[in-house]
Amino acid sequence: MSPDAPTRAPLRLAGFVPFSTVDRPGHLVATAFTQGCPWRCTYCHNPALIDPRRRPGATWSELLDLLERRRRMLDGLVISGGEPTLHPGLADACRDVRDLGLEVGLHSGGAWPARLAHVLPLVDWVGLDVKALPDRYEEVTGAAPSGRAAWESVRLLVESGVDHEVRTTVDPTVHTRDEVLAIGARLTAIGVRRWVVQEARPDGARAGWVRRLDRRRLSDVLYDDDLPGVERRVGV
Ligand code: SF4
Repeated sequence: MSPDAPTRAPLRLAGFVPFSTVDRPGHLVATAFTQGCPWRCTYCHNPALIDPRRRPGATWSELLDLLERRRRMLDGLVISGGEPTLHPGLADACRDVRDLGLEVGLHSGGAWPARLAHVLPLVDWVGLDVKALPDRYEEVTGAAPSGRAAWESVRLLVESGVDHEVRTTVDPTVHTRDEVLAIGARLTAIGVRRWVVQEARPDGARAGWVRRLDRRRLSDVLYDDDLPGVERRVGV
């Protein structure tokens, strides 16, 4: 494909990495990072991705060119953010990737359930973040209506039958142990098949939050024997 080949509605990309083994567990993927996010999470470790007006760091055509050259080495592409469902071109982007014979993975915070539902038939796997119980969402995201949207997105994802992983980044400045356990119980009741709890990382995060974090870790919130069978992702 020519680097200048037009795509129907291009994604705004901050950039991409040609190989990743962590962005879709068990798969070798390239990862695209879309520019722009409606939220301002306490622990966001890449705040440069938040402003949707920021100048793109790569074009969709450049990424497609790379995928075409490496399609035999890769299982697929993961479209990450920022928040990919911010972009009207997401569905066309998924189709472009599938046309190359590659699978599509999607990272989302579920900020727009209807937009997520629109692209679910076009993706093979979703990594969906669940950041808090619905009425405490704003304390993580800084955005008032975010909890209802995110939990509706979880419901839609489970109903769709699309392979998924739901992830909760535990922020010791916000979450209590009881809250994390309650999130897990609620996800199980909805039918989530795979839930991972992640440690919030200080690198790249805003200085004020890093000060409040005060070196606390996942192990300062959860006991070792909490949540048997639930993966804990630390230092990734
Ligand atoms: S949803 Fe992700 S990209 Fe957006 S502010 Fe939160 S951590 Fe950062």
